Amino acid sequence: MDIQWSNRIKNLPPYLFAEIDAKKQALLDKGVNVIDLGVGDPDIPTPERIISALNSSSKNPANHQYPSYAGMMSFRNEVASWYGRRFNVQVEGSKNVIILIGSKEGVAHAPLAFINPGDVALVPDPGYPVYGIATTFAGGTPYLMPLLEQNGFMPDLDVIPQDILKKAKIMFLNYPNNPTSAFATDEFFEKAIDFAHKNNILICHDAAYTEVFFDESNKPKSFLEYDGAMDVGLEFHSLSKTFSMTGWRLGHVVGNESAVAAIGKVKTNIDSGAFQAIQEAGIEALRNYEVGLQDRTNIYKKRSELLSDGLKKIGIEVFDPKGTFYVWFKNPNGLKSAEFSNILLEQAGIVMTPGTGFGQFGEGFTRASVTLSDEKLIEAVDRIKNLSI
Ligand SMILES: *Cc1c(COP(=O)(O)O)cnc(C)c1O
Repeated sequence: MDIQWSNRIKNLPPYLFAEIDAKKQALLDKGVNVIDLGVGDPDIPTPERIISALNSSSKNPANHQYPSYAGMMSFRNEVASWYGRRFNVQVEGSKNVIILIGSKEGVAHAPLAFINPGDVALVPDPGYPVYGIATTFAGGTPYLMPLLEQNGFMPDLDVIPQDILKKAKIMFLNYPNNPTSAFATDEFFEKAIDFAHKNNILICHDAAYTEVFFDESNKPKSFLEYDGAMDVGLEFHSLSKTFSMTGWRLGHVVGNESAVAAIGKVKTNIDSGAFQAIQEAGIEALRNYEVGLQDRTNIYKKRSELLSDGLKKIGIEVFDPKGTFYVWFKNPNGLKSAEFSNILLEQAGIVMTPGTGFGQFGEGFTRASVTLSDEKLIEAVDRIKNLSI
């Protein structure tokens, strides 16, 4: 039978990292010693205390059955308590929190909750590819907000045309930012909340990296810390990056009660929640969240400095990372992103993500992840130094 793919997926390019994986595999098959600074996936293992919690919880037969759709009340309350302790944001587990099977799941389902066909979602570019694709899946249209260097990689909300604002229902934001590693300023978040109020646009803030920061005096804030945020927004968060738990698939959405309920309604019709033993391990993760956190971020800090200093020494313009595990830099000699990433792959056996993989306004930039050892990073800089470009 001739299987007919839906137009929805037929016209979609392959998921960015799936495509890069294929190229990497081809090099590995040829015996190349590949250094992969592509996908941002922590190489540091999940803390032992969290693994132990999973071990014991997994033995409880009650956890072998379907979990509740919105997540265990005990975990929702723990998330609420963590928001209180970490951000001084007061929320109620039963009203303002829903558990996600990773924040990607929540982000991907958000447009189904808020977008009707023909509606617009404001999407940062460069940005996490899911925002735009999930909008399209819901029948909406992404409107790209360029994240420009001269604006500190924050969108300029004043230049969005009036006819777009009329159709826009949600706006995705993400700080600390992937891929640029930029932090948002207080002024920007305050302005965004005002903008959301005036234009009736729900803010969906993706906060996956709030705990990966390098300077205690420049600690990322939750978007929900700002006055009026709870009225106009949601925040997606994740245990993946904070606790090296990408494989566990656990996250949460926190914020406006009605908006949280809308995500919950989508989810009850699509999935059946996260494994309860993993949720109980999540309780342990958040309850003692500071244990070992600084040790892990210090590792990323050291690596980020190693890589950015190395690249700067060979004349590359790097944006000093204050957090996340990404180093975002300008391609040497004005090379286009696709050209440079191919040169890196073919001549140096290095995988990095072309800026354009995150959207058209990523052109001219490259993202390197520091989720691998110092030795490999030093070797990568060495190989780049020896490129003939
Ligand atoms: C890693 C990442 C996520 C997804 O995290 P999960 O909780 O593992 O699904 C979401 N947004 C951004 C910007 C990320 O980099």
